Amino acid sequence: MAEKKSPEIRKIAAAQAMRRLMADHFYELDRAMKEGHPKIAWCTSVGPAELLRAMGFLVYFPENHGAMLGATRMATDTIPAANAIGYSPEICSYLTSDVGAFLQGRTPLKDAYEGITSIPRPDVLVYNTNQCRDVQDWFSWYGERFRAPVIGVDCYRGVETVTDVHVDGIAGQFEALVAPLEEISGEKLDPQRLREAVRLSRRCSDLWKEVLDTAAVRPSPLTFFDSTIHMAPAVVMRGLQTAIDYYEELLAELKARIADGVAAVAGERFRIYWEGMPIWGRLRDLATLFLELETCVVASTYANSWIFTALDPDEPFRSMARAYTELFIVRSDPPKEKYLEEMIEFFQVDGLIFHDAKTCSYNTNCRHGMPQRLEERLGIPSISIAGDLNDLRCYSDEQARTQIEAFVEQLAGRAGVRQ
Ligand code: SF4
Repeated sequence: MAEKKSPEIRKIAAAQAMRRLMADHFYELDRAMKEGHPKIAWCTSVGPAELLRAMGFLVYFPENHGAMLGATRMATDTIPAANAIGYSPEICSYLTSDVGAFLQGRTPLKDAYEGITSIPRPDVLVYNTNQCRDVQDWFSWYGERFRAPVIGVDCYRGVETVTDVHVDGIAGQFEALVAPLEEISGEKLDPQRLREAVRLSRRCSDLWKEVLDTAAVRPSPLTFFDSTIHMAPAVVMRGLQTAIDYYEELLAELKARIADGVAAVAGERFRIYWEGMPIWGRLRDLATLFLELETCVVASTYANSWIFTALDPDEPFRSMARAYTELFIVRSDPPKEKYLEEMIEFFQVDGLIFHDAKTCSYNTNCRHGMPQRLEERLGIPSISIAGDLNDLRCYSDEQARTQIEAFVEQLAGRAGVRQ
């Protein structure tokens, strides 16, 4: 009997343009490092990128490199090197895979881009602890290695309602970064340039939101797995016109899919929300599994994390403070649950998958009863999958497949539809 062929993932044509943009991004950084100009700032993924752009820095995001280490599965080899110098296997596996890769002189950039042999050397490292404390430790390690200054913002955590007290506190810390950054860049901050960077970042964010919101249509034109790839410009190029041009192109393609009734998952039967980090080394496998199950993972907290609707060019510091504090990851459980409730309704979700990421408790929300509370309140079923963003030793393919298949069967049973 002929073996059943796995369904093909439907490709997004704009991906080609994105690959070119990403190549330009890394070559520009590599050139700057070799020529010593412009200066390079490392920034956390939800750090003050707009301020850095306005001050003439090229910006490099180590978490993006961490995700590349995960997606290429190089992380599996590099994590133990960081464990060996005292970084626990229980802490952020972006940190451990990235530090381990540095110690081993490895980077996926070498394989992807001819002529690039290393990550770009920082002139300054700028963090925001809004997402976690690990980023500060991570940047401090590199700061010592490169003898580069490490500065940043210490954020509130578990915030119920974002108030003026929070906004004033964070805005003040952003403003305090200006003097040291001016000293490093040798340039004075031009307020008009900052307003422009915030305007461009806000436009990027609005377009990214529009892209993600197309998944509210039935059948959805894109999946969570697509969004993990196409979010790259929103992370590394926000504040630049290039990101805006890219999302206009992507959005047009998705709107054309909607007009033509083209589904990302042929025969879409169920719609799922993914809560938590992606499992970078298993994106393709999981995307294929959901295709087989005719189930679309339509939305996620993760991809939504680069939507910053509070950004306002007329009030750059305060609006950056608000945007980077209103984030899901900064909040307490009640606003998180309210947000998920809105997402479930907007994307017409049948069930939730919580990813219990071993090394990122900050992006893991299934350990304190949230799935159960949501099920009780909204009648929405969920499962929690044990895994990790980068450390595949924490993830079992068989167990995840069994759980997901059983979950879809459960959804079918509830809906009384064909299996
Ligand atoms: S939020 Fe999680 S994945 Fe991201 S840097 Fe912090 S610990 Fe790592």
